[in-house]
Amino acid sequence: MNHILPTLPYDPAALEPHIDSRTMALHHDVHHATYVNNLNAAIAPHPELHGRTASWLLRNRGKIPVAARNAVHNNAGGHLNHSMLWRMMSPDGGGEPSGVLAEAIRRDFGGFNAFKNRFAEAGARLFGSGWVWLVSVPQEGGQLKIETTVGHDNPLTLGHFPLMVNDLWEHAYYLKHRNSRPEYLDSWWAVANWGEAARQFGRSLGDADEQPQGEVVFKVPAMA
Ligand code: MN
Repeated sequence: MNHILPTLPYDPAALEPHIDSRTMALHHDVHHATYVNNLNAAIAPHPELHGRTASWLLRNRGKIPVAARNAVHNNAGGHLNHSMLWRMMSPDGGGEPSGVLAEAIRRDFGGFNAFKNRFAEAGARLFGSGWVWLVSVPQEGGQLKIETTVGHDNPLTLGHFPLMVNDLWEHAYYLKHRNSRPEYLDSWWAVANWGEAARQFGRSLGDADEQPQGEVVFKVPAMA
């Protein structure tokens, strides 16, 4: 077994009433598990891909054998993005960011409420399934931006550093909010984990104290 489904960092019911336990259990135990299983199946015939992280597989699409390329890309993204999503929510979430992340959000969006509105608007506007991100762009001096990606793409393929993310696939909200993605995006702020986003921001700034424990999930390579 190459890639492993991470355990949820909290009980599936811990985000109630904002994110319901049925959605969390299905989302993690079935959807995310399927991406992990399909990723392992896709790389199985290709020993040269064994031992590569999901992040490497995403960033090196051109090095994946053509026959496996789409399956590896889609499922590595599904695995990586969901691994980040679970950490970006918390039963102790909500509120506002503090410290240098709050300052950077004020600098680049004009304020926290303006940021929230733009993040929610971008998420509501994306057609079909995808993700909405707060990223830091090293090529632009660490400027913060909001980006959306389709399918399971991830801004790290552009060398952008993800700080915060939300899942726009219907499976993330359909049981509770039916077709209302804006309602889901609005309620999601109550569980947003700004502590984890601040740690990601520290990592983006190269803060040695903020390097993640264990596998480096979101290590962005220096641009060549
Ligand atoms: Mn999902």
